[in-house]
Order: sequence, then C-alpha cells, then structure tokens
Amino acid sequence: ILKGKSAVVTGSTSGIGLACARALAAAGANIVLNGMGVPADVEKERSAIESEFAVKAIYSSADMAKPNEIFDLIALGENTFGSVDILVNNAGIQHVSPIEEFPAEKWDAVIAINLSAAFHAIRAAVPGMKRRSWGRIITTASAHSLVASPFKSAYVAAKHGIAGLTKAVALELARSKITCNCISPGYVWTPLVEKQIPNTMVARKLRRDEVISDVLLAAQPTKEFVTAEQVASLALFLCSADAAQITGANLAIDGGWTAA
Ligand code: NAD
Repeated sequence: ILKGKSAVVTGSTSGIGLACARALAAAGANIVLNGMGVPADVEKERSAIESEFAVKAIYSSADMAKPNEIFDLIALGENTFGSVDILVNNAGIQHVSPIEEFPAEKWDAVIAINLSAAFHAIRAAVPGMKRRSWGRIITTASAHSLVASPFKSAYVAAKHGIAGLTKAVALELARSKITCNCISPGYVWTPLVEKQIPNTMVARKLRRDEVISDVLLAAQPTKEFVTAEQVASLALFLCSADAAQITGANLAIDGGWTAA
C-alpha cells in the first residue's frame, strides 16, 4: 500500500522505531533510518530492509537534539527519494530521578529529543507534504502522555507535550490531506525499558524482579509487555487510506493501563 512513498523514521536503529521502519518497508515504502548505534549493526539492519523488502533504505546519524541536523534529515529524505510522505517521530530517551535532584541538562535533553525534535521535523516535512497533498505524521508518545509516574518529570512533560502538538498540527493540516496522530504505548520490551531498570531499582529501593512486576507491569492490567511489532502495525494502519479520517488522535496501546 505504500509503494512509491518514502518514510523518515527517527530513532529507528532499535526497538519501536526499527519495527516501524521494517513494517513501512514491508508495505513498499523507501526508508530513511536514523538513530545512534554501532555502524556495523546499523548497516546490517539497513541492508536487511533493502534485501527483505525490495525497497531503498538509507541511514542518517542526525542528532535529534540538534534542530539543524533534523532539518538536514528531512532534506536528505526529500533529495534522495523525491519526497518525505511519512514522518515517524520516534526517537526518545528517558531519565529517572526525583524532581529535586533531576539534573537540569537531563531535563533539557529529554525535552529536546522527545518533544522539540518532533516540532522541528514536522516543520521541515510539512511543506513537501502540502505540495503533494498527502502526508502521514505519526509520533510515538507514551501512556505517559495521558497519565504520570513519579520520578519521570521530564519524560511525562515531553510526552504530554506531544499529545498537544499532535492536536494543534492535526487541526492546521485538516484540509491538506495530511493526518497527524500519536501512538501511546504502555511498556514495550525494548532497550529503553531495560536501561531504566537499574535507576528505578535505586530510586525505589527494589530488586530487579520487583521493578519488573511491581513497577513496570504494575500499571498494565494485562500483565504482558506490548511488542514493538504491535506498535508498528498500528503505525502502518495510520498510513492506510482507511485511516484518512483519523487525525489529532492519541491512540493508546497499553494493555489497559490508561483505562484504570
Ligand atoms: P530504544 O532505546 O530501543 O530506541 C530509541 C531510539 O532513539 C534508538 O534508535 C536511539 O538510537 C534513538 N535516539 C536516542 N537519542 C537520539 C538522538 N539524540 N538522536 C537520534 N536518535 C536518538 O527505545 P524504544 O523503547 O524503542 O523507544 C522509542 C520511542 O517509544 C521513544 O520515543 C519512547 O519514549 C517511546 N516509548 C517507549 C515505550 C517502551 O516501553 N519501550 C513505551 C512508550 C513509549
């Protein structure tokens, strides 16, 4: 369904972003991969996408904390493939700390990468989408765009910001055949989740298994992690013609977390 289209997926060297890139490629889209990672590992993922799905895939190491690099990332997609039809704002980081000890530079980094990067990327991609009268903007928000948890002030603020940005942009683009939505997963088993276990153990004085059952999956009524592939399937659906009237939405995929 996406043959001839191209997609920029930020933070797609691992986890949810990589799953989204692969799902969009499987549907025929050319892909711009982005994110940190060991060059050899990134190259393996890039060439696997090309060979498995018979599309073109390129990689950019653009830093989502730097507005000029975000602008260049969108330009790279447009110059290489002729268009950026789909933008998936997915890059994200986490920092877990009590508010009174929260390092100011961590706050700035979380807001830059998890919130401002989406603004800069959307701003750069919209003119081309408007010219072609078609576009899909999807941002990976989080259950933390709807509810909060202690010790995650910057992340919760950034993700709530994404929900608001999504609504404002959707309204602005409502007559342009460009939809703008965010997806709000509960806990997905990825490196991002794994990496926050040690800090949470310290912050809450818990063992590793207690963090998993009592903190991570405590809020998720199904007691199962979401998979990255399930998030990617929803992103792919949002790119379909059937999803043309879904815009400004914040779609939860959280095992019932935000129903409670
Ligand atoms: P991950 O750590 O596996 O992937 C994060 C990606 O972002 C990686 O590709 C990484 O290289 C990239 N990235 C980080 N900083 C970057 C920067 N400065 N510039 C460019 N790329 C950068 O994590 P994930 O769990 O797949 O997270 C992806 C998104 O999903 C994030 O926005 C996260 O907040 C969100 N999310 C994750 C979960 C979860 O449980 N894993 C739940 C809800 C929302």
